Amino acid sequence: MTTCTLPERDRAPALAAAQPDVWAHLGDWLQRHQRTIHKTQWTVVAIYLVLLIVPVLRPLPDNAAYIWTNVTRFAQFAFWGIWWPFVILGTALVGRMWCGLLCPEGAITEYASSVGRARATPRWITWAGWPTVAFAITTIYGQMVSVYQYPLPTLLILGGSTVAAAAVGYLYGRNKRVWCRYLCPVSGVFALLAKLAPLHFHVDPEQWRQSQSAGCRPGPVNCAPLVPLKNMRGASACHMCGRCSGFRGAIRLARRSPNNEIVHVAGQTPKPWETILIVFGLMGLVVGAFQWSSSPFLISIKQWAAQNLISANVTWPLDTTAPWWVLTNYPLKNDVLTLLDGALLIAYIFAGALACGGAITLMLALATRSLGSWKAARFHHMAQALIPLAGAGVFLGLSALTVTQLRSDGIMLPYVSEARASILILATLWSATLCWKITGLYSDRTARRIAALAAFCGAMLPANAAWFVLFWVW
Ligand code: SF4
Repeated sequence: MTTCTLPERDRAPALAAAQPDVWAHLGDWLQRHQRTIHKTQWTVVAIYLVLLIVPVLRPLPDNAAYIWTNVTRFAQFAFWGIWWPFVILGTALVGRMWCGLLCPEGAITEYASSVGRARATPRWITWAGWPTVAFAITTIYGQMVSVYQYPLPTLLILGGSTVAAAAVGYLYGRNKRVWCRYLCPVSGVFALLAKLAPLHFHVDPEQWRQSQSAGCRPGPVNCAPLVPLKNMRGASACHMCGRCSGFRGAIRLARRSPNNEIVHVAGQTPKPWETILIVFGLMGLVVGAFQWSSSPFLISIKQWAAQNLISANVTWPLDTTAPWWVLTNYPLKNDVLTLLDGALLIAYIFAGALACGGAITLMLALATRSLGSWKAARFHHMAQALIPLAGAGVFLGLSALTVTQLRSDGIMLPYVSEARASILILATLWSATLCWKITGLYSDRTARRIAALAAFCGAMLPANAAWFVLFWVW
C-alpha cells in the first residue's frame, strides 16, 4: 500500500504538530508485517483444530485426569478457562486485536473469500440483529448440551461456527470477512467491548481532505471486515489488523480515553440491537446461563413440577432423554438431562433474561425521562454506559470456569472473592461515571442529572444482585 503521506509543510496543523509516538509506530509495524501476522494466524488455526478434534477421538477423562496429563482436560481448559475469558478482557484492553491478528475463524473465512465465488453480500446477511440473535442461540444451546464440559458439543458449536464462517467466506466478498462483520455470534459482544479500549485507529478527517486535495492516489487498502475507513469514528467494527495504518497520512494507531467512544461517539448513531444485546443478553441471558446450575430455585421448581407430573400420571417428561446434541446425555458420567430438565433450564434462562432485562429497561427509561422529554436515541445512548458492568459480568462468569477447573485439579487461586468484588465495584463505578458524563450532554441542570444517575444506578442493581447471589450466597 502506498501511504501518500504529505510533506510536513502541507500537513494539517494538528497532525504536523503531533510527533509519531510508540503507538503509531506499532500500527505501522503491523501494516508492514502482514506476512508475519498471517503465519501467526495459521499457527493458531493449527492449534485450534488440534484442540477441537483430538479430544473427540479420545475417551472421556476420568476423575484422575488433570489438565496437564489429559488432552481433553487441557483442551477444555484452553477453550473455556483461558481463551474466552481473556479474549473478552483483551478486547476491552486493546480492541479487537484478537479478531484481526489471531482469530482462527477470521483467518479461515478470509482465506475462503480469497479463493471463493466473490458474490455480493445479500441483504439478509446484513440484518443488524444477527450478532444478538446468534449470541443468544449459542449461549442457550451451549447450556443445553454442556459445551463447557464435553468435547463433542465443543466440536459441534465451535467447529460448526468455523464451517459456517468458511462457507460464508467462500460465497461472499473477495478477500473479505463478511462472516465476522455480520454473522459471528460473538462479534456483537466484541464490538461493544472494543468501545472501552484505550487504543484505536484514529482517522484525521482534515488530513484525509488535504491528501485528497493534493491529488494523492494511494493504492487501495483491503479492510477485511469492511469498515468504511474515511468515516471510521470508533473501534467497534475495526479488527485492529493495521493494514490501513498510515493511509493518506490520516490513519494511525493512537491512545484515547476509554470513556471517549461511549460518551462522544456511541450516541450519534443509536443501535437498538446493541441495547438489546447489553440489557437482555449480557445482563440477562448470560447471568441466567451461568446461574442455573447452582440455583436452589431451579431445584425447588423441578421438584414441584416432578411431583405434579407424577400425581397427574404423566411421567414421560421425567424419563425421556434426548441425543447429546439436543440435551446433555452422558450416562457413564451420571450426567443426563431429561426433557423436564431441559425445558426448565431453557425457561429459567429466558425468565432470568426477561426479569433482569425488563427491570433494567424500565430504570433506563426512567433515567432517560429524567433528562427531559422522551428520546429513543438518548435511551440507547444511556444503555451504552452499562457496557463496563455488562462486560465485567461476562468476564466473571467465564473466569469462574477457570477457577473451577483449576480447583478441581487442586490449584487454589488466592483472593478470588476479593478480585471478583473489586471487578464488580470498579465496573459499576465506571458505568456510573459514563452515565454521569452522558447526562451532561443532554442537560445542564444538576437535579435532572442526579435523578438520571439515581435511576441508572437502579438499572445496575439486577445484574449486580444476580452476580452477588451466585458468587457469595449460593
Ligand atoms: S479499519 Fe480495517 S484495515 Fe484498518 S485496522 Fe481496522 S480492520 Fe484493519
